[in-house]
Amino acid sequence: MSDKPLTGRATADRQPHSLAAWRRLGGGAGLALALKRHSPEAIIALIEAAGLRGRGGAGFPTANKWRFMRAGAEKAGPGACYLCVNGDETEPGSFKDRLLMEALPQQLIEGATIAAYAMGATEVIILVRDEYRAAAAALSRAIVEAEQTGLLGRDILGSGFDLTMRVHASAGRYIVGEETALIAALEGERPVPRHRPPYPAVSGLWGRPTTVNNVETLSAVPSIVEHGAEWYQGLSHTNEGGTKLYGVSGCVARPQLIEAPMGTTARELFDLCGGIRQGRALFAFQPGGGATAFLETAELDVPLDFAHTKRAGSSLGTGALIVLDDHACPVAAIGRHMRFYARESCGLCTPCRDGLPWVAKLLDTIEAGKGTRGDIDLLHQHVALSGPSGRSYCDLNTGALTPLRSGLERFGDIFAAHLQGSCPVGRA
Ligand code: SF4
Repeated sequence: MSDKPLTGRATADRQPHSLAAWRRLGGGAGLALALKRHSPEAIIALIEAAGLRGRGGAGFPTANKWRFMRAGAEKAGPGACYLCVNGDETEPGSFKDRLLMEALPQQLIEGATIAAYAMGATEVIILVRDEYRAAAAALSRAIVEAEQTGLLGRDILGSGFDLTMRVHASAGRYIVGEETALIAALEGERPVPRHRPPYPAVSGLWGRPTTVNNVETLSAVPSIVEHGAEWYQGLSHTNEGGTKLYGVSGCVARPQLIEAPMGTTARELFDLCGGIRQGRALFAFQPGGGATAFLETAELDVPLDFAHTKRAGSSLGTGALIVLDDHACPVAAIGRHMRFYARESCGLCTPCRDGLPWVAKLLDTIEAGKGTRGDIDLLHQHVALSGPSGRSYCDLNTGALTPLRSGLERFGDIFAAHLQGSCPVGRA
């Protein structure tokens, strides 16, 4: 039994398996067990006991989400109910779902099928960003093979459970990480977040009960069903179950994806990546992607799970660690993030649509050594006024400002030094 339930069956060259090869590796056992031995409620209870939380960034308990959906599906009555799989992955620094979709499409299909059975979905739509052509091709091929062998379609494995599955090419927008915007995109509308309530579990895609789950979350499901909640919990270093696919990028010697026990520390991950590149020193890192607060050397031994990372003042997010060394200017790094999020704003509300480009420009001015003390004061004010108090329609604006808020708090002296025309750290 592998201690790497997400990637243990991947080939060295990360090429997808044929269905026959996947089965020889033991693939499909979780689905067979789920359909033959467990009721949908029992599977949800198993996922709850395993402690699986959403790996798309928010960390919401997966079992709760499935329970809401099951209730919504029962209330809605006959008709389609949807499980949408978010494989868009536009978050800066995040590239984990790509591996799971490209190298292990059968695992995701199996996890999505078990999830659909548990929550009462009749149709699965896997949304894959357009640049991930290899992932979309691998999934499409694996879906056809599954249909031809009775693992998808009508009466799966003789259980009476019917399910259709398809891949949808996404234009690739950060905002589709927001589930209602993803649903709008699937309906052919502009991907703009929708008001909640009603929640998608009650009225989602085409007005029908819908759940959106992340690729990594669903990829963990088959092994939980096969080996049990206790086994999955036991893989973790903390009381948050399982393993995590950490993606380390930036100033490390060997940027890479690492499946490691939940709660692995940044120090351990950086060591596995060969340390900070070119013998330089760590300056700071973001533990969960571009929209998470910076941590520093003092936090290298924080177990990277949802609770500990939050306690340290940041968040686990997608587990995409972005590393800055002592030659990487944090003002430049924050400016790059800001330009990305400004570009990705859906344009619905003013603090995001107009505020983020304005902040990006101000940061450019400061980075170029042409800013004033008043500019830094303005940034402080903007961050305070745009805080996490619901002044924007969705969390994109708040998330985008998180590295700025954190940077102003932690690296105020570096911002101030830029006013004198110099950066004490260097350029990224
Ligand atoms: S904060 Fe407002 S403008 Fe920005 S992405 Fe969300 S809804 Fe759109």
